[in-house]
Parts: sequence; structure tokens; C-alpha cells
Amino acid sequence: MFESLSSPNIHTPQNLAEYANTITHYPQSSLWAFGSSIMDSENFYPNLNANVEIIYLGLIDELYKFQRNDRAVEFGSMVNLNEMLTSGKSILPQILIDTLKSIGSYSIRNRISLGGAIANKKFTSALIGTFFILDTQIELRYLKKKRLHNHFFPISKLVEKNGELILPETSLISRIRISINSYNYKYFVTIDDPCLATSNSVTIAFICNLEQISTTNARLAITYPNKGFFSSRDTDMLINNLQLPIEPSAQTEIINKI
Ligand SMILES: Cc1cc2nc3c(=O)[nH]c(=O)nc-3n(C[C@H](O)[C@H](O)[C@H](O)COP(=O)(O)OP(=O)(O)OC[C@H]3O[C@@H](n4cnc5c(N)ncnc54)[C@H](O)[C@@H]3O)c2cc1C
Repeated sequence: MFESLSSPNIHTPQNLAEYANTITHYPQSSLWAFGSSIMDSENFYPNLNANVEIIYLGLIDELYKFQRNDRAVEFGSMVNLNEMLTSGKSILPQILIDTLKSIGSYSIRNRISLGGAIANKKFTSALIGTFFILDTQIELRYLKKKRLHNHFFPISKLVEKNGELILPETSLISRIRISINSYNYKYFVTIDDPCLATSNSVTIAFICNLEQISTTNARLAITYPNKGFFSSRDTDMLINNLQLPIEPSAQTEIINKI
């Protein structure tokens, strides 16, 4: 059955310059981060149709970097979700911390890279909806005229109308830049497990500023793991400037509890 099957070629670039060299020579390569989604795929290997060129991203130092300034925080795409939580604990928006904590268990989060969670085509992670409402930017390295270019794209530029995130072919997610905006209200809930009950699961992420008793800068994303996510400026506008039926003193109490 497997007689004409040959082992894939695994490329192991040690830095982004080597990655550029490899992807230029093998533009059809599959990217391998921690492999948790790839290994899970039916018929990934052994399979006669499997991609024979694989680029392992785990040795590229630049993809593990973390840096911050007053306005934004940047993570390399090979940072795992627990590392994000640890290094970003005091600065990341609370809605993002809630989203990260909702994904798998501690040991599973250790095996999920930020880039893999975003790029996984078979599954829309709740992270994407949250990144969308936080106006996150994604740095892509992509081939154009046989040269590797890099550019930060607002996530909204990478999302199709149906809520699917589409990356240009042969593009590597190298960094993610998250603005440190201060929203004083957030709501996050996941109904049913996105992996175990994929077709029933839904995640709602909502942020806004509560000023006096009205809402401003409202952003809402609803994620369906097997379809994509929904977020619309029109819906956000409907929620903006809503007068909430609460006393200002009760509102202060709510905010203090968040
Ligand atoms: C047991 C288990 C539970 C899970 N639970 C959840 C959950 O609750 N919520 C949730 O959102 N997800 C969950 N996941 C899914 C998880 O987010 C994906 O499996 C994710 O893709 C894993 O990342 P990885 O680093 O292993 O990626 P890989 O499996 O290595 O890659 C996944 C895909 O992304 C591509 N890719 C990887 N890195 C990059 C990059 N830097 N640039 C471009 N493309 C890239 C690969 O080519 C591949 O197509 C779970 C997974 C497992 C195994």
C-alpha cells in the first residue's frame, strides 16, 4: 500500500534569513509549528498526496520574541498560548486573557503556537474574533516575484465577508501586534466546547467603554469554530450609545468587579 511512499523532506531553518532561502526554493512547502493540528489531520501521513516539503518553524529564534512599548505588545508566532498569558499578564487586554484561558487546558495551551492557532484552516479559533475586535495586526512574510516581503496587515484586511481568515499563499505569520487599548467593560463566553462539540459551539466576545450609563467604542465578535466569525460595524453602532438601565453608582460597582 505504501510502496511508492517516500518520507517528506523536513527543512529546519534556524533564522528568518534561512527561512527566506528555503521558501524561495520550495514555495509549495507546508509550515509546521507544534504540529498539533497537522498530526490530528486525517490522512496527513502516511499519504501519497501529502506534501513532501515541510518547513519546521521551531528553530527560528526570531519567532519566539516578545516586546512591548506604551501602545502595543508584539509576540512572535511561535510563542505558545501559556507564554503569552505569562508574559502579557499585566498588559494584555482582559478580553484576550479570558480568550486565551478558554482554549484547551494548561498542557494543551503549551502545545499551541500563536501562529498555528491563527492559521489553522480547519478550525476558527475564538482568538481570531478577539483579535479582530482589538484591531490586532498580523505580520506576514510572503513570496512576491521570488522575493520574501514582510508587512503588518490589520486583521480586518485578511478576513473574507463570510468571516474566514484568508492568508495569502505561502505566507508565514511572523509577529502579532496587539494594541493596548483601555476598555473598561468586557464580556466573554464560550458555549459548548469548540473542539468536542464543534458544530454547536459559539463564542461571544464583547468590549466597550461604559461612560456614565452609556456605551462607547463597542465591538462584538461571535465565533463559530467550524464556520468563521461574525463582526460588523453596523452591529457595533447599534450597541454604541445605548443608555443602560442602571444607576451610575451600580455601574461603578460593576466595573470595579471586572
Ligand atoms: C487537544 C486539542 C485541543 C484544542 N482545543 C482548542 C480550543 O479549545 N480552542 C481553540 O481555538 N483551538 C483549540 N485547538 C486547536 C489549536 O488551536 C490548533 O490545533 C492549532 O493549529 C495548533 O497550533 P500548532 O502550533 O500545533 O499548529 P500546527 O498544527 O503546526 O499548524 C496548524 C496550521 O497552521 C499553519 N501554521 C502554523 N504556524 C504558522 C505560521 N507561523 N504562519 C503560517 N501558517 C502557520 C500550518 O501550516 C497548519 O496549516 C486544540 C487542539 C488540540 C490538539
